[in-house]
Amino acid sequence: MKSISILGSTGSIGCNTLKTVEHLQDFRVVALGAGKNIEKLAEQVARFQPELVACESEECAEELLRRLSESNSAIPKILVGEAGLIAVATHEKAETIVSATVGAVGFVPTLRALEAGKRVALANKETLVMAGELMTKAARASGAEILPVDSEHNALHQCLRGESAAEVKRLILTASGGPFRTKTRAAIENATREEALNHPNWKMGDKITIDSATLMNKGLEVIEAHWLFGFSADEISVIVHPQSVVHSMIEMVDGSVIAQLGVTDMKHAIQYALTFPTRKPGCLEPLDFRKFSTLTFEEPDLEKFPCLALAYKALKIGGTMPAVLNAANEIAVQEFLDNRIRLSDIPRIIESVMNNHAAQAVSSLEIVLETDLWARAKAKEFLTASVSSAGS
Ligand code: MG
Repeated sequence: MKSISILGSTGSIGCNTLKTVEHLQDFRVVALGAGKNIEKLAEQVARFQPELVACESEECAEELLRRLSESNSAIPKILVGEAGLIAVATHEKAETIVSATVGAVGFVPTLRALEAGKRVALANKETLVMAGELMTKAARASGAEILPVDSEHNALHQCLRGESAAEVKRLILTASGGPFRTKTRAAIENATREEALNHPNWKMGDKITIDSATLMNKGLEVIEAHWLFGFSADEISVIVHPQSVVHSMIEMVDGSVIAQLGVTDMKHAIQYALTFPTRKPGCLEPLDFRKFSTLTFEEPDLEKFPCLALAYKALKIGGTMPAVLNAANEIAVQEFLDNRIRLSDIPRIIESVMNNHAAQAVSSLEIVLETDLWARAKAKEFLTASVSSAGS
């Protein structure tokens, strides 16, 4: 029996991880970290009986305690805030940490897990975008493994098994293209929250679904791939593949292309990350090729989706610039979800913040956190300016 901790247990990846754990039956859940979805967290605690639980605030902890007492469930140790998430990420019994919080909140806990030498099944791509250098350095120093749960990177990890990096010419990330692939620029400009949240292939959380609609998700994944596999921006391509059957590919120096295919369900990538280097029977229906008589591929339109170009630019500049891209994007996406800006304002705000930033080397955690705060504050300044100019 192996032991795991989950950061972000009530989110989409967290819930799928728990389903995968139930299917595999050889993992024990020792710690769960969540935000404020206490109803779901209480259900998970009652079912999996972890030793430690972290939630967002004291009020959340009180509600959790009340719900667990009412259902006569065993009461675990309960901690709050970032200290709680760090305790979950570094729990002494946990060999594997699933890092699945959304956005920057998982950053420090994930770094601590890597420093502690844990296997990290990484779904939180923002962590690598903000500070890939620190994360990979910490992993090398402690001997920690990073197993990607993001479906494209999980596919690349599978394609690269047994291959020599020197014989790989480029990584090819596939992108579904999101709900606006065939729409005009004007339609994207005026897209509603509901249209943007209507992803054609994947069911995911709100933030990543908006990132998929702007193609920022693919941009963040290019940066993530750079840090996971050590390829440069010029050696990582993106191809739009609306059916999402090919999860990603690698092209070898001799021209041969190796692809990983599968159904669009994150449980496959989660199970691979948990059981690597072995494979266990899965819980999903096999891929039915009769349903996919045509697989198509097209170039991404960088004019229609400037976020992807901004991410390449941030990776090429390097240093703290990807952290700026990520922070400005998080603020802009939240504003869009709250119906305060248009979808097309997201890349405009990010570009303005990037243009105001002089990138520096990512030499410490403090520099990353300072840059993150700076970029968030700057993004809010541009928001105030653009909202007041729109209102005038
Ligand atoms: Mg992905």
